[in-house]
Amino acid sequence: MNEKGFTTITLKKINKSKVYQYVYKKKQTSKLQIVQDLQMGLSTVSQNLNLLEKEGLIERNGYFDSTGGRKAQAIQIVSDFRISIGIGILKNMFHITTVDLYGNSICTDTTPVPYSNTVDYYDQVADNIKDFILKNNYDSEKILGISIATQGIISPDNTTVTYGSIMNNTGMNLEDFSRRLPYPCHLEHDSKAAAYLELWNHSDLDSAVIFLLNRNLGGAIITNHAIHHGISMHSGSIEHMCINPDGPLCYCGNRGCLETYCSANSLEHSAQLPVKEFFPLLRKKNSPYLLQIWEDYLNHLAFAMKNLNMVIDAPIIISGYLAPYFTQEDIEYLLERINSAAPFKLSREHILVGAHGQYTPAIGAALFFVEQFIMSI
Ligand SMILES: [Zn+2]
Repeated sequence: MNEKGFTTITLKKINKSKVYQYVYKKKQTSKLQIVQDLQMGLSTVSQNLNLLEKEGLIERNGYFDSTGGRKAQAIQIVSDFRISIGIGILKNMFHITTVDLYGNSICTDTTPVPYSNTVDYYDQVADNIKDFILKNNYDSEKILGISIATQGIISPDNTTVTYGSIMNNTGMNLEDFSRRLPYPCHLEHDSKAAAYLELWNHSDLDSAVIFLLNRNLGGAIITNHAIHHGISMHSGSIEHMCINPDGPLCYCGNRGCLETYCSANSLEHSAQLPVKEFFPLLRKKNSPYLLQIWEDYLNHLAFAMKNLNMVIDAPIIISGYLAPYFTQEDIEYLLERINSAAPFKLSREHILVGAHGQYTPAIGAALFFVEQFIMSI
């Protein structure tokens, strides 16, 4: 192909991509708006819209209110043109979710299969994923891939778990899944996957500290709009920050890690109640005992937040399993504790609360393939 031909094709691809990305960002737009904002000719925009519509990537649906003259057609992307499947692996269960091209979780499920590093386990997970796909009638061509979030630190090439003390899954391999599933597969540390979802939902954030309040505690650091990994991939492992050298024993072998005070497991252990029963009873406000347990929990959390805020001067995001249980009052209480005798104050708008609960890592993991797809158009 001569150089001119190549340039024309490249330009066509760039224009198509620009129009698609614009519609994607706007969520709903009109042809005229695209022409104006992208400063592209009307015929070029029309051509690209026709092309994108023919490929099934966008749709024209309804009309904008007329401001005089002909009503403008509303243009949007087809948000389920492709879907991505996210898996969140925990010690005693795994979550599965489907997300559309906007990262909306459109279906979730939980299967109570305890983790074990055996052929049986991986077979069972793969069979469950295949059943989930069948049950929901997903056309296999629509599935971008299956992204797995697991507890444990992952190798920089995202193929192997290099530290998995909770589940005993050190050495867990992407291949354990990918060889059983006829789709592209991806492996991710669950804390990083959760942070990815929070970043996706707060795209204006430059930096943040994420507290993943799951059954086991996790964390992540966001700087320059990206997740900080570190030289051995353990940046943001706030769970092993020591807050009391004489405290309870942590699964890592040390004492008084934040894990032993602020994980959902540690809360359940103190309350001797499952989380699902603890919060309704706590909110009735007639148990000073439960209130004390919750205040202790928040005090430890505030202690860690205050210290981390000295290192990373950025908003804090409360995410994961316990996040939806937090009330306004809890946040006010945390703030008061963080700001008491602190040289620098944190304000209310700098504590954000995630909304996806226990599905956060699975949804965040699924976004890997969504982002890849959007960028590929
Ligand atoms: Zn520890």
